[in-house]
Amino acid sequence: MLKQFYPYEYVESVFMIDYEKLYTMGYRGVIFDIDNTLVHHGEDSTKEVDELFRVIHQTGLKTMLLSNNCDERIESFIKNIDSPFISDADKPNVMNYLKALDMLDIKIEEAVMIGDQVFTDILGANKCGMDNILVKYLRYEDEKKIGIKRNIEKFILHSYNWRKSYQNRIGNIHKGGK
Ligand SMILES: [Mg+2]
Repeated sequence: MLKQFYPYEYVESVFMIDYEKLYTMGYRGVIFDIDNTLVHHGEDSTKEVDELFRVIHQTGLKTMLLSNNCDERIESFIKNIDSPFISDADKPNVMNYLKALDMLDIKIEEAVMIGDQVFTDILGANKCGMDNILVKYLRYEDEKKIGIKRNIEKFILHSYNWRKSYQNRIGNIHKGGK
């Protein structure tokens, strides 16, 4: 079944999410993927992303970075961001999603996972029953070729487009109230 790959919400980018609204709705922690979600694969954080984390923390939400990438990669990314992280997370294995909840000291219904890949970020969250938001993966403008995995993902998201009951399951979290 494809529904295990369907996100609760699908938004343009991490900058288009209304984090204050998430807090109001009862969420207490946001768990982020890093590569192609916050920055291009392997890149350091940007001023905009650093600022985003400050804004998120001001709402009262805690953050966690959950990445399949290694320690060194995350440590170089996280220089100006005050957030705990789990490296080599082995998503979609649910083990480290649960560990993240433990580290944040929040319940599963208070957490939301945000990532760019249905096969890792979203599948893992769905497997453990955690709300989740898919963002469009960051891509360089001159990047033409996309991999097989992204093509299958495209197919899944195409089918998701037709399944209205699976969309907007969190509701009203788009910045600007869309
Ligand atoms: Mg990613």
